Amino acid sequence: MASAIENVEKETEKVLHKFKSLKDHGDKNLSELIQQIESYQRDLSILTSPDCPLTDIQCQLLLDNTRNTISQFSTEHRDIHSSVSRIGKAIDKNFISDYVCVGNESLFDQGKNNEILNKVIVEHFLRQGRSDIAEKLIQESKLDIDTNDKIPYIKMNKILDALRNRNLQPALEWAQTHRDQLVKSNSDFEFKLHRLQFIELLRGGIENQWKLITYSRSHFTPFAQRYQAEIKALMGSLMYLRSGIEKSPYQYLLDPNNWVEICHMFTKEACSLLEVSVDSPLSVTFNAGCIALPALINIKQAIQQRNVNDVWSSRDELPIEIDVTRKCHYHSIFACPILRQQSCDSNPPMRLQCGHVISRDALNKLSNGSKLKCPYCPAEQNPADARLIYF
Ligand SMILES: [Zn+2]
Repeated sequence: MASAIENVEKETEKVLHKFKSLKDHGDKNLSELIQQIESYQRDLSILTSPDCPLTDIQCQLLLDNTRNTISQFSTEHRDIHSSVSRIGKAIDKNFISDYVCVGNESLFDQGKNNEILNKVIVEHFLRQGRSDIAEKLIQESKLDIDTNDKIPYIKMNKILDALRNRNLQPALEWAQTHRDQLVKSNSDFEFKLHRLQFIELLRGGIENQWKLITYSRSHFTPFAQRYQAEIKALMGSLMYLRSGIEKSPYQYLLDPNNWVEICHMFTKEACSLLEVSVDSPLSVTFNAGCIALPALINIKQAIQQRNVNDVWSSRDELPIEIDVTRKCHYHSIFACPILRQQSCDSNPPMRLQCGHVISRDALNKLSNGSKLKCPYCPAEQNPADARLIYF
């Protein structure tokens, strides 16, 4: 993939280089031409008799020169066309446009899967704050989504919009409402909001001195112990109110990144309270797919060339292991120690009474009527007492 991008980039750079040299060359020729015309104009204005044969010759020369320059310019410009079309060819050559070979077309034939897919897309847009698109999709695909499921996302995006407009009030109200949960998770969010509010007041300069002192007194007290060093720094900045914070050692407080950070922080906290992951399932799946595609295309080609198509017959399983990076790992996987197979929906992990875990197929194989001897400890028990484990 990376080399494909590099190959296309190389062609693009060639074109950009050609455009630049054409422009430089053209600019130079055109300004020379303009100079010649201007000097001819000057000559004409001082001549007493404009019918002088000399001016005719000069005019003809000038016309020829102009024609030559323009035709040269258009030839050079035409040459670039072939380089531009080479970029298109490089894209066709280096990127795969047809992913049908690794797709599972029949997967979305069934109504249920289609509905799940639409729901995942709707949820993604609700998270992104694009409830207009989500509503349209709900309407068109006749989805039944509870309004209560939408409200938290709508609220979340309203607060985020306000933060992006440097309005901390809705976020502060949210943090106060959820203070208990935030404290429980050891979150810095509420303090960071007050800190940012204080910094915004700092920007107002000496006029805000009194406001800053009142704000600190009424809002920093509950945080005094935990954020002692940070509060000290904020107080220290007050000394530079008159001479300007931007010229003081505290200028770092004015970093605009504070606002980017607070938006990230809010999204993280809000998603954790909603018990959803920060990235939507759609974007996680899409990213994992992008990582997996090159390997899958390679293996598919190898399978087709060797005529071993039935290797990839199982619907829920890939023929090779693909490392989708740690970012895409959400839960543990279980491999049955008896059958040496990864568990799946049809063969899930089962916890025996003694605490050992084996897959359901292994459990059925080892059971003898209502008796089962654990292959590990080896406690005797009733296989019906084993419990399904969910990861
Ligand atoms: Zn056991």
